[in-house]
Amino acid sequence: MDETSNLAPNRYMRQADSPSEPGNRNGYLKVPFARCADGIARHVTSVSKQTIGPFTCLDCEMPLTLRQPSNRRAHFAHRPDAHCAGETALHRYAKELLAQRKFLTLPILTVQDEGLSELVFKAGIYNFEEVLPEFRIGSFQPDAIVFYKSVKLAVEFMVTHAVDAEKREKVQANDLSMVEIDLSEIRASQLPSEELDHVILHSAPRIWIHHRKRSAAIVRLADQVEEQKAKRGSRLKGHIEKQVRPAYPVGWEDESTPLVEQERLDHLVNLDVVCNHWFTVPRAVWQSHALCEHVIKPSQRFTPSGANIAIRGEWPSERSLASKIPSWMIRSDLSSYPPKRLAEAGYDRTHYGSPHHAVSSYLSKLQRHGRAVVWSDERQSFFIEPNFHELLHRRAEFRRIVTKLLDAIPHDNPEQGYRSWASSHEVGGATVDQLVEGGGDSYQMLRDRIFALEAMLSSNSSKIVNDLCGLPLMPILDRKRAAIKADRVARALKEKEAASARRDAIRQQAVERLENESAEWLAKPVEKNGASIIEFAGTSDDALIKTEHWLATAADRRRQANAEAEKVAALQAELIRATERAFPNPAMVQLFLNTSQPQIGGHHPIEYCNSKAALKRVLSLLPKRR
Ligand SMILES: [Zn+2]
Repeated sequence: MDETSNLAPNRYMRQADSPSEPGNRNGYLKVPFARCADGIARHVTSVSKQTIGPFTCLDCEMPLTLRQPSNRRAHFAHRPDAHCAGETALHRYAKELLAQRKFLTLPILTVQDEGLSELVFKAGIYNFEEVLPEFRIGSFQPDAIVFYKSVKLAVEFMVTHAVDAEKREKVQANDLSMVEIDLSEIRASQLPSEELDHVILHSAPRIWIHHRKRSAAIVRLADQVEEQKAKRGSRLKGHIEKQVRPAYPVGWEDESTPLVEQERLDHLVNLDVVCNHWFTVPRAVWQSHALCEHVIKPSQRFTPSGANIAIRGEWPSERSLASKIPSWMIRSDLSSYPPKRLAEAGYDRTHYGSPHHAVSSYLSKLQRHGRAVVWSDERQSFFIEPNFHELLHRRAEFRRIVTKLLDAIPHDNPEQGYRSWASSHEVGGATVDQLVEGGGDSYQMLRDRIFALEAMLSSNSSKIVNDLCGLPLMPILDRKRAAIKADRVARALKEKEAASARRDAIRQQAVERLENESAEWLAKPVEKNGASIIEFAGTSDDALIKTEHWLATAADRRRQANAEAEKVAALQAELIRATERAFPNPAMVQLFLNTSQPQIGGHHPIEYCNSKAALKRVLSLLPKRR
C-alpha cells in the first residue's frame, strides 16, 4: 500500500484529535499501537509493563507515552506539540505482524460458468517460508511479498484505498498472485491485541486481485463447459429427432391418405420440409392431412366463385395453420427451448420452429410446386390456387352426383361404376374424365345433362329425362314413369271424391234453404252442354262457390214470393169474413166471391183481392146490411 498517499484521518482517532485542530491541548494525539524498545510493534493491550518502553509512534517515530487510566481505555499519547495523525499505524502494524508471524488465511478462488466451477486456489491457513515487506518488483511495491513453496505471492492491506487499476495491471503483467486484505472496517483502538491480530491474519475480508493459475483454470473450465454443451446438445438433438409413438385415438382411420390417392396428388405429400420433428406420425400422413384439410376438402365443398379461398387455421386459432391437424399427431414433449440450447443441438429458430412453421413450410413447398396453393404478399396469406380449386370441385361434383344416381338404381358399387363410366363414356370424342380434367364449355354441357338427371330423383319433379348420358339409369326412368302414372290415378280418384263432396255440400245447403223446391232448383241446366247446377258445383271449388251465390239469390226470391202470398191470403181472409157478414148463408158467400163482377173488370172478387186498394174496392160491392 502506498503510505504517502494515505492522508485521510484514521477512524480510531477521536474527533478532538483531528489534525485540523492541532492547537487543542486538551486532546493529545492518541494511537493504539507503538514500537517498543525491542523494536516490535505492539498493540496497547499487549503492553503490560512500563519496562518495555520507551515507545515510539509507528507513523511519525516520535516518542509516545503509555497511558493506562483506570476509568478509560489504555492508549499511547503523543507529545503535546506533535502533529502526527497516526494515519498509517494500523497499516504498518499489519505488515509487521505478518512479517513476524509468517502465516495468513488465504481465501478460496474459483472460476464459474454455466453452472460449472473450477478450483484455482484452496482456502486455508498458509505458512510462508519467508515474508519480505516493502519488496520492490520493478516499479511496483506491494505491502509484502511472501513465499509459499518457493512461489512469490503479493499481499496488500487495504485501510482506506483499495488496489487501483494501475496496480492491478502491474500484478497481471508480472503474473504475480496478489491477495488484498480489507482492514477498513477494523476499530483497532477498541479491540484487544489477540483479537486484532486474528482479524488481520484470518477473518478480515480478503480477495484475490490476481492469481497466476486463474487463466489456466479458465481454460480448463471452458473445456468443461464446451464438453457439457456438447453432451447437452447431443441429448437435446436426440430428443428432438427421436421417433415418438403416436397415441392413435380408438377407431381412427386414415381418411386423408386415400383421398389424396383418389385425387392422384401423391406427389404433393411426403415432401422434405423443416420442423418435421414436431409430428408423431410419418411425414406423408400429417402432410396428407394438411393437404386434405387446407386444400382438397374446402375445394370440394365450396363452389368456385372468383374469390380465392384463404388458407387459415381452425377457428378460433386461425393464425396457427397446425390447428387443423389433430393434436395427437403433434408432439407435446417438445417445448420452446432457449436459442442457446437449440444452438447446442445444432438447431436455429427456423429449423426447430413449431407445428405451425412445419405446415407453413409445407405450404411454401406446395407453392413452389406451382399448383395447389399461392401466396399473397399483400394479404400475407396462402390461398388455394383458383384453377386447382375448380378442378377439384369438378371432380367431386361429378363423382357425387353420378354415384348418387347409380346408388338409386341401385348399383353394387357406385364408386366403381362412376370410374368405369368416366373413363369409357365419350362425349364429342373425349371421355368424361377428360372433360372433367379440362373443364370448359363441353364440360358445362355434360354437367347440365347430369344435373337434369339428378333432378329426376326428386319426388317433386314429374319431368322425364330420356337422355341418360350413357349411364345405366333405365330403372330410374321406369320407376319415374310408374310413379307419375300412379300419381295421376291417385289424383283422379281424389278429384272424384272432391267433386262428390262438393255436390253433397250444395245439395245440403239447397235442402236447407229451398226445402221442397230444392230438387227442382238443383236440376236446372246451367251450361251450354246441359249440365245441371249440382253437376256444375262438383267441377271445382270455384264452381261450388258460384252455385252457393246462386242459391242465396234463389232463396231470397223465394222468401219474397212467400211474403207476398201471405199478405194476399190475409186480404182474402178479411174479404171472406166481410162477405160472410154481408150474406145470410154460405152458398151466397161462395156465389159472390166466385162470380165475375163488371165493376172490377169482370174478375172474380176473391182473385181480384191482391192489395188493400183492391180489397176496398171489392168491399164496396157488398150489399149494405139491413
Ligand atoms: Zn505519530
